[in-house]
Amino acid sequence: MLFSGGQDSTACLAWALTRFESVETVGFAYGQRHAAELQARKRILARIRAEFDAWKQKLAADHVLELGVLSQIGGSALTERIAIGVRADGLPNTFVPGRNLLFLTAAAALASRRGIHDLVGGMCETDYSGYPDCRSQTIEAVQHALSLGLAENFVIHTPLMHIDKAATWSLANQLGGEQLVRLTIDETVTCYEGSDARHDWGRGCGECPACSLRAAGFARYAQEKASRIR
Ligand code: ZN
Repeated sequence: MLFSGGQDSTACLAWALTRFESVETVGFAYGQRHAAELQARKRILARIRAEFDAWKQKLAADHVLELGVLSQIGGSALTERIAIGVRADGLPNTFVPGRNLLFLTAAAALASRRGIHDLVGGMCETDYSGYPDCRSQTIEAVQHALSLGLAENFVIHTPLMHIDKAATWSLANQLGGEQLVRLTIDETVTCYEGSDARHDWGRGCGECPACSLRAAGFARYAQEKASRIR
């Protein structure tokens, strides 16, 4: 399970814990400006172990791999102090070229060593269609390349691929109830600025594109839930 400490990967972790007998988590230190998400992942794992009896037995080893080469290459608003904006080619400058490809390759190499062939990631093309490495076509091609190149049959599961942020909150609720929604609000950090300030929709600066998307998704989720109750 590629686990970053954000909302999406927390929902995916819950998804994995309901489907597999044992789940190992892997995070990546790639010189991201915000160490806040690496701290968030530890808090989330600790709370899952403490609060979710059905899942704590399944939650196995956690790994953090260094991929500093991404900040060495640089040029992204996620690894350098440059203002968040749009590149000349129309992609957001929060795009880190090759990041998900490297993450999946490193995760597959680790999985191979550990006899694991199912990889789970929070990639989603609905909200981040600007990111070419989050598209299902890319993920399918990577799955094929990894299976060929490591001579093992990998399956890359992306449960969020075709759902939006409101549906991600609903999924968390279906899988782990209000308790998982609460944990997601309390602990997860998805913010591009790496702020861990608290809001009713979770932690973040409240201003950046990731926070705006998340806040809007939570508002829609809350509205849909309220209309169901009425
Ligand atoms: Zn933010």
